[in-house]
Amino acid sequence: MLTEDTIEKLRGLTMSKRARSALEIMLERGTVTTKVLQEEYGLDHPPRAIRDLKDAGVLVGSHRVKESGKTISEYFLEDVSAPSPGGAPRNPIKKADKDRIVAEFGGRCAVCGTASNRLQLDHRVPFAIAGDPPEWTGDTAMPLCPSDNRAKSWTCKHCENWTTRNPELCQRCMWCHPENYDHIAMKPERRLVVTAHDKAGVETLRWLEVHAAEQNKSSSEVAIQAIASYQELG
Ligand SMILES: [Zn+2]
Ligand SMILES: [Zn+2]
Repeated sequence: MLTEDTIEKLRGLTMSKRARSALEIMLERGTVTTKVLQEEYGLDHPPRAIRDLKDAGVLVGSHRVKESGKTISEYFLEDVSAPSPGGAPRNPIKKADKDRIVAEFGGRCAVCGTASNRLQLDHRVPFAIAGDPPEWTGDTAMPLCPSDNRAKSWTCKHCENWTTRNPELCQRCMWCHPENYDHIAMKPERRLVVTAHDKAGVETLRWLEVHAAEQNKSSSEVAIQAIASYQELG
């Protein structure tokens, strides 16, 4: 159940007219389907109203329901008053914060550096470990490509620290601070992502793979050997 306080807070958020209509309908009915929003309330583009609502910082949950043979979305308001880990209040990300942080990173994934317009903003320290940060900045959140976001989720859930829940250990993990770290999910590892963009570079990396296979080694082993020889040359 949403408390009076929460409802008041939701109503106080700045949002578009269609988002406000959707909010009031959900406050009244609890859940609402795209079909009901459109047919009973005359909302032109229900998914856009829901997106506006999320952009305003409202946590909207959804699931798929069957209605007269068709699968459609049913939306509901997540209970933002539910305590987050450590008892910190929920502080959902707003679109303005996301846009600002993504711009800080030059529109690139913080882990692999890929430029994309499908970047997702992620907690640096997982929500389950430290809750929402009091402020959304480039120090508490980072943009990730969908692929690295999935990899981070999977890695954190299988990390030793997922049960110990020590936020300080997360802070020094590559999946939290790819810019500066001393372990990867508690293992003393280091990662370098190498992508060749020109013909010569592609040939060099292909040679590395063939050479490694011939010696029954991994490309990583041979690359590290090569870098070590280069290092010895000074
Ligand atoms: Zn990435
Ligand atoms: Zn982690």
